[in-house]
Amino acid sequence: MRLFGLGPAEMMVCGCIFGLPLAGIVLISAIIAARRGNSQEVPAGDKKCPFCAEHIKKEAVVCRYCGRDLADPATGSEADVVV
Ligand SMILES: [Zn+2]
Repeated sequence: MRLFGLGPAEMMVCGCIFGLPLAGIVLISAIIAARRGNSQEVPAGDKKCPFCAEHIKKEAVVCRYCGRDLADPATGSEADVVV
C-alpha cells in the first residue's frame, strides 16, 4: 500500500523524522512537570528546617517537627563563646 507515493520504508523514515522531535517535546515537558512536582518550594514567610527539611516559620527558633534548636549560629553562638 502506497500513501502519498511513499513506500513503507519512506513512511518509517518520515515517522522517525516527525516522531522523534515530538517524543522529545513530550519527554521534556514530562521532565519539567516532574521537576515542578518534586521541587518543594518553601512558601513565603517559611523556611526549611536544616535537620528534618520540613517547612517551618521563618521566625521559629525551635523546629516543631524535630524539636531541634534553629537559632542562627551567626547571631546565637556569640553569647555562648565566653573565654
Ligand atoms: Zn526539623
